[in-house]
Amino acid sequence: MRIGVLALQGAFAEHIAVLHRLKVEALPVRLPKELNGLDGLVIPGGESTSISKLMLSYNLLSEIVNLAKNGLPVFGTCAGMILLASKTSDSDIKPLGVMAITVRRNAFGRQKESFETELPIVVLGEKPFPGIFIRAPIIEQASSEVEILARLDDSTSVAARQGNTLASAFHPELTGDLRFHRYFLDIVAGHQ
Ligand code: GLN
Repeated sequence: MRIGVLALQGAFAEHIAVLHRLKVEALPVRLPKELNGLDGLVIPGGESTSISKLMLSYNLLSEIVNLAKNGLPVFGTCAGMILLASKTSDSDIKPLGVMAITVRRNAFGRQKESFETELPIVVLGEKPFPGIFIRAPIIEQASSEVEILARLDDSTSVAARQGNTLASAFHPELTGDLRFHRYFLDIVAGHQ
């Protein structure tokens, strides 16, 4: 299994480290040709405006859209989730539009810009998942094809799946808990 991690900006090294811990081949992706032969792709957290601009200038945007529309499993965390959306609150971002979700950037006020909370996520089992939120976005709207996987106590949606596409507003790669990545790898295995 070969998983690419978009390595233009942000927390790509952390995802690669988690994938290595899960004994999976993980490769940084900066050029369109590095998308060839991948079984899955991770879009990390970072600064969504920068990643969006770099995706355009490195000619990665349309390639990734094509691959995702053809079923390539893609997992976006935080800024990565913003980039997977159909609509975002920020006109500087050209999202990939591969998930039928509307996302709001930096959705938590100053006081809660960064926080950690235990999230019940049924698909990961009974034990709550440590949700690390860093200037995180939220899912404001999701169409009926989208399965919401995690909500905060106030019912704000913070993780979702649509077919082979997975998104979290928080950072599973910064926890020692490998279950979210394992869940993504199960999607990849199911698609192969
Ligand atoms: N605030 C960042 C953005 O809007 C996302 C933060 C993150 O990825 N940790 O792009």
